Amino acid sequence: MKKHNFSAGPSILSEYTIKNSAAAVENFAGTGLSILEVSHRGKEFVAVNDEARALVKELLDVPAGYEVVFLGGGASLQFCMVPYNLLNKKAAYLDTGTWASNAIKEAKLFGEVDVVASSKDANYSYIPKDYVIPEDADYFHFTSNNTIFGTEMRYDPDVNVRLVSDMSSDIFSRPVDVSKYDIIYAGAQKNLAPAGVTLAIVREDALGHVERAIPTMLNYSTHIKKESMFNTPPVFPIFAALQTLKWYKEQGGVAAMEKLNLEKAGILYDEIDRNRLFKGTAAVEDRSIMNVCFVMNDEYKELEADFNAFALAAGMSGIKGHRSVGGFRASIYNAMPKSSVEALIACMQEFEKQH
Ligand SMILES: *Cc1c(COP(=O)(O)O)cnc(C)c1O
Repeated sequence: MKKHNFSAGPSILSEYTIKNSAAAVENFAGTGLSILEVSHRGKEFVAVNDEARALVKELLDVPAGYEVVFLGGGASLQFCMVPYNLLNKKAAYLDTGTWASNAIKEAKLFGEVDVVASSKDANYSYIPKDYVIPEDADYFHFTSNNTIFGTEMRYDPDVNVRLVSDMSSDIFSRPVDVSKYDIIYAGAQKNLAPAGVTLAIVREDALGHVERAIPTMLNYSTHIKKESMFNTPPVFPIFAALQTLKWYKEQGGVAAMEKLNLEKAGILYDEIDRNRLFKGTAAVEDRSIMNVCFVMNDEYKELEADFNAFALAAGMSGIKGHRSVGGFRASIYNAMPKSSVEALIACMQEFEKQH
C-alpha cells in the first residue's frame, strides 16, 4: 500500500517528479546514460539547469535584476552565506523558531545582530507582530514558515532595509512579491526536490557592499557569474527540481497551489478544532498551511501513543511531532493530494468514535 507521506522533510514529491526522475535514472534525455552518471557540462544537463532556473523565475514572477542559483550545503549554509555577503555592521533578525535562531547564531559570527522580537517565551507558538527594525540594519531576516512549530508569515513584510527570507518550507506555496526581497533561499527537500540542492534568488545589486573577503564558494557572485555552474552542481536533485517546477506550471502555478493549500489546511484545522480529542498548538492567526501541528487535548493526553500507532496502521507516515513540540505534525506540502488530508481526517474521526 502506498503510504500517505506527512513527513516534514525530506518529504512528499509529486508523482510526476518521482516517475520522471526514476525514468531518467535509467535513461536520461535519450542519451543512453543515467542522470546519475552524466557530465554536468553536457548539453542535455546544461539545458535542464537553465530550464529549471528559468521556470523558478517564471513561476515566482522574478523581476529583472535578480538571479536564480542552485547551491550546495542546504539552507543551513545560507545561514552563514547571507551575513557573509550582506552584513557589514548590523543585521536585524526575527526569532520565530529553531531555524530562525540557528540563522541568528551564524549571523553573530559576522557582526552585531539585533533580534527585533522573539516568541521563544511561548515555545514559538506565535509570530511576534510588534517590532521595530533599526534603520541602520544592513538587512532584516525572517523565516517565512516555521517548519517545526507550524507558524507561518504568509505575506511579504514591508521594511525599510534589505529583506532576506528563509522560505525552505513554503516556497512555491503561494505567490510572492520577489521585488520586496534581496535574497530568498530554500533548501529543496520540502517543496522542490530530494535533499542536496538549495535554491537562492538574489538581487544582484545587493551584492558587493561588504568589506570582507568572501571565500569563492560562499560568494553569491561566483555562482551568478557562472550561471549556477561554477563547480559540479547537484545534478540529480536539480533534475528532480525541474520536474516539480514543470508540475507546478501544469497545475496552474503558485496561485493554484495556494488555493489548494488553503483548502487542505482549512479542512484539517477544522477537524482539529472540531474533534474533542485534539487541539492545535499554533496561534490561530499564524497557523501554517504547510505544517499542521496538533496535540491530544489535555484530558486525552494518555492516548497520544495509541493515536500514533492507529494512524500508522492506517497508512499515515511521518505524523509524529518534532520532539520540541510533541504531539503530531502533519506536513501537507504542495505535492500532498487533498485525498491524503481527507484520509488523515477520516482516521482522526474514527479514533474519536472509538474513544
Ligand atoms: C528544513 C529547514 C532548514 C534546514 O535545511 P537544511 O537543508 O537541512 O540545512 C532551514 N530552514 C527551514 C525553514 C527549514 O524548514
